[in-house]
Amino acid sequence: MKKIVLLKYGELVLKGLNRSYFDNLLLRRVRTLLRGMGGAYETDYAQSTLCIRGGEGADMDAVAARMKKVFGVASVCVGYECEKDMDAIRQTLAAHAPELLGGATRFKCVAKRSDKRFPLGSPEICADCGALLLSLGLGLTVDVLDPEVCVTIEIRDRAAFVHGGGEKGAGGMPTGSNGRAMLLLSGGIDSPVAGYMIAKRGVEIDGVYFESPPYTGEQAREKVVSLAQTLANYTGRMYLNTVSVTEIQETLMQKCDEKLFTLLLRRFMMRLAERTARLTGSAALVTGESVGQVASQTMSALGVTDEAVSLPVFRPCIGLDKEEIIVRARQIGTFDISSLPYEDCCTVFTPRHPNTRPTLEEILENESRVDVDALAARAFETRRTLRLEGK
Ligand code: ATP
Ligand code: MG
Repeated sequence: MKKIVLLKYGELVLKGLNRSYFDNLLLRRVRTLLRGMGGAYETDYAQSTLCIRGGEGADMDAVAARMKKVFGVASVCVGYECEKDMDAIRQTLAAHAPELLGGATRFKCVAKRSDKRFPLGSPEICADCGALLLSLGLGLTVDVLDPEVCVTIEIRDRAAFVHGGGEKGAGGMPTGSNGRAMLLLSGGIDSPVAGYMIAKRGVEIDGVYFESPPYTGEQAREKVVSLAQTLANYTGRMYLNTVSVTEIQETLMQKCDEKLFTLLLRRFMMRLAERTARLTGSAALVTGESVGQVASQTMSALGVTDEAVSLPVFRPCIGLDKEEIIVRARQIGTFDISSLPYEDCCTVFTPRHPNTRPTLEEILENESRVDVDALAARAFETRRTLRLEGK
């Protein structure tokens, strides 16, 4: 018997003729990660399950933990592979029961018999294995309605797999299966969550961060780099663009109405993000906005923001409360980084009384006081790009 990790595919299973396209993307991602893990591994795909076997130097628990971050994987099971006969299955269960149960005492057995020639039916396999587990003196009870662990026996073509039912994976679709988008990534809590939510649907994401040196510093930028790195660990890679909006902000301060600062700046951000997106092949912009969260995110403000660009703008957090966004930020590992206290360019020039019902006319009138194209072009020239590889 050999320790294995099984990856159960999620929504991909519903795909029709182009299923292999999605499967291949996922397989490539898994193999890239395995190559980076040290040790020898081989992969074998059948019946919506990818089986990972370890060779020399393999660390199957580390593999399982890493694979939980791969989009497209619905669940990750650590278990054992053995010969396809009841003696071998019993021996495997007896040898590894505590590990498979992970401290749980209420269990049930589940049998998946994809090889229909196997002499025992699923109910018989479950009864046999359940009786064996009860006889081990581990203080176990069978609970078919509310088990803590489903000890699972899969009878496959070549072998049998025995595992503890698995843990939830990241879900979603394999990265790269749904195009590319440009995330406006600030150092805040919301935008990394927005990026994660879009990336989960198979979209490759790049980021653009706007800074205002010398008002914002190196630490604020490092914080955004570390947020981008956290996202890249899920997607595999991310290009983070940094653009300076200092001149834009100073010009807006001199020439425009203070109550519209944030919105005028947001429109510049959208334009610059769109330029970056077009240059790098992104088909949409993504922001962390949520209706009504702050003055620049009222319905009218969002409408005015969108008017500055022609690419579609996705806002996955649009209907989430701050509390709900925070729960997600903690789950994906960005919350603690976002909570670091460094200044964002928006907070440097925050109007005291922002306009919550801006009209396009007053925005356009304010923009007519500055040279929008020249300011955007000069800001775009400050663009620097950092390539982040997932770890
Ligand atoms: P966040 O956690 O996203 O910063 P927030 O509540 O601070 O949320 P705002 O500052 O109003 O939101 O910004 C709204 C959205 O605009 C952000 O979610 C982000 O997508 C974009 N944005 C704001 N500031 C920047 C910035 N400095 N660089 C890049 N994008 C930004
Ligand atoms: Mg912010």
